[in-house]
Amino acid sequence: MQNEIKDVVVIGGGVVGTAILRKLSLYNLSIALIEKQPDVCEGASKANSGIIHTGFDAPPNSLEAKCLIRSRDLWPDYTEQLKIPYIPCGAIMVATDEDEKEIIEKKYIPNAKANEVEVEWMDRQEVLEMNPAVTDNVVGALSILGEAICDPFTATRAYAELAVINGAELLLGSGVTKITVTDDGFEIILENGREIKTNYIVNAAGVYSDHISRMIGDDSFTISPRKGQFILTEEEIDISQVILPVPTAKSKGTLISPVVFGGFLLGPTAEDQEDKEDNSTSEEGIEQVLHGCEKLIPGVRDYDSIRQFAGIRAVCSTGDYVIRPSEINKQFIHAAGIRSTGLSASPGIAEEVAEQLELVGLALNKKEDAKLEIPNLFDESEENVGEIICLCRTITRSEITNALEGPVPPTTIDGVKRRTGATLGECQGNCCIPKIIDILDEYKLIDELPLKGLQNSTIALKGGNQ
Ligand SMILES: Cc1cc2nc3c(=O)[nH]c(=O)nc-3n(C[C@H](O)[C@H](O)[C@H](O)COP(=O)(O)OP(=O)(O)OC[C@H]3O[C@@H](n4cnc5c(N)ncnc54)[C@H](O)[C@@H]3O)c2cc1C
Repeated sequence: MQNEIKDVVVIGGGVVGTAILRKLSLYNLSIALIEKQPDVCEGASKANSGIIHTGFDAPPNSLEAKCLIRSRDLWPDYTEQLKIPYIPCGAIMVATDEDEKEIIEKKYIPNAKANEVEVEWMDRQEVLEMNPAVTDNVVGALSILGEAICDPFTATRAYAELAVINGAELLLGSGVTKITVTDDGFEIILENGREIKTNYIVNAAGVYSDHISRMIGDDSFTISPRKGQFILTEEEIDISQVILPVPTAKSKGTLISPVVFGGFLLGPTAEDQEDKEDNSTSEEGIEQVLHGCEKLIPGVRDYDSIRQFAGIRAVCSTGDYVIRPSEINKQFIHAAGIRSTGLSASPGIAEEVAEQLELVGLALNKKEDAKLEIPNLFDESEENVGEIICLCRTITRSEITNALEGPVPPTTIDGVKRRTGATLGECQGNCCIPKIIDILDEYKLIDELPLKGLQNSTIALKGGNQ
């Protein structure tokens, strides 16, 4: 890679950057993705509600609505081809009084129609039959049948895996520090001193996409961080759908959602802050989550939480997604400002970016042997399954070794967690992390066993994937 000139380099290994890499890997192109963290899915893409939104509430005619609408048709194939855990459970927006009902009727039903999303009014009895845990104060709800939940970790990783299978390069663990505009394209410098030449750049750096943009002198937008705190619980909650409140002007509000791999998520908050890195949780934030959720489901305060975490949304000064060539250099395409719906819209964003690249001169010739599906690479037969390592989630030894032998192997304990579900259960890794470390040690992937790393379970493995 040192002297080779890439056709396209994508900066940022979240769900947006990897979806774009997957799409570009279907063409005869030399492509790479640069991610500053040691794994893909380390930014907003790992800490969200995991909901595949239909776009029923997106501003009509916005780029966000356009990408969500395009994605709706693509998701069914994507979940099959990429083996993404996905449950089409639907969502309901619960009205707890006549004022909220009126907001739904006057705002959300017309908005959904404008975005061609099927919605219907559910009366109180229907709501309580399907979701008995919902508050007795419910007067009815807007049913959005097309909403679904999925595993955002698998989505991001599977995009990256398919791209790697199709020949893309992943450069993990060293961020972009400088971009120089050259006669034909760009020269990129990484933190580790490495230089990469490319004809086109796609800027998918999430909350840092304004920083990346400024590296070529483009200050056409700024990104502000907005934190969202969550509570994860394994209590039995008698709901079968995503339970949404009637949103406020600032956020979609705190919701309660089933999680594809078990349990329920409560949250998120919407807290504007200066720090792009601060994803800590706080007593006040958790209180806000409980306060918001108990309006929808009484008794949430009595639930045991197995984990609390936060993600950072990328709020853009333009108020919409920014997917276009830079005004400074048209070979530099932004995929930025993807605030609250980037998981849902990722298939559509990738289509948009590919079209933008073609419009500014990149030749997109289909690769004849490009794969669309993640192949079944592993022997899952009973005799090969082995010992159960994570008792809470019944994750076997072979599931962990399969992940270590996959196209994008994990480079941290968190990476093992996101690929297998191990450590995600009630004990949150207390029982299984030592066993996982033993397996990693057998694979000679750990330089040393820094026990302090267990605090956030991010133990860097040898070499990464560079
Ligand atoms: C609380 C919360 C709830 C949400 N709920 C939902 C939901 O239910 N459904 C939904 O569709 N969306 C949801 N979202 C939005 C969704 O998570 C984001 O839109 C999406 O993850 C954005 O993806 P991304 O790839 O743009 O950003 P990120 O995932 O943040 O990826 C950007 C990457 O760029 C990397 N990077 C930054 N600087 C550099 C550099 N200099 N060099 C190299 N790499 C760099 C970062 O390390 C990061 O990995 C939610 C978000 C939050 C925070």
